Amino acid sequence: MKLDSMYQDVILDHYKNPHGRGLRNGDAEVHHVNPTCGDEITLRVRLDGDTIKDVSYEGQGCSISQASASVLNELLVGKELTEARRIQETFLELMQSKGKAEPDDAMEEVLEDAIAFAGVSKYPARVKCALLSWMAWKDATAQALGETAGGKTA
Ligand code: ZN
Repeated sequence: MKLDSMYQDVILDHYKNPHGRGLRNGDAEVHHVNPTCGDEITLRVRLDGDTIKDVSYEGQGCSISQASASVLNELLVGKELTEARRIQETFLELMQSKGKAEPDDAMEEVLEDAIAFAGVSKYPARVKCALLSWMAWKDATAQALGETAGGKTA
């Protein structure tokens, strides 16, 4: 099986069977949109000290944006913030690689299913789809920690 089609299966599976979808209690809520594709996400973060207790979300849009939110939930819930930030930064690096990143074992270990988006990085228009929920998470976490004044929703 070709790697690309295996990756597509992972994305489709998350799209069809999203992890942790639905809005639950959170310490902060953000709403982000990706106007170029029409993707939307409302995301809530709940922290317990330095641990991510929950990331809940509702959204609509393309399979990449929705699958990415599911992968984010699966990867980040239960993690310490420092670890979660490392995952987020690694994912950002992968998505900004313009298809040139060669995911190695170390990267795959950090990103797990998120590695499936490697092929998406070749398509600048789709990169925003894949990053939508991750940017929303970063924003919501900053708000939950009181690092921003709040009110920034786009
Ligand atoms: Zn999209």
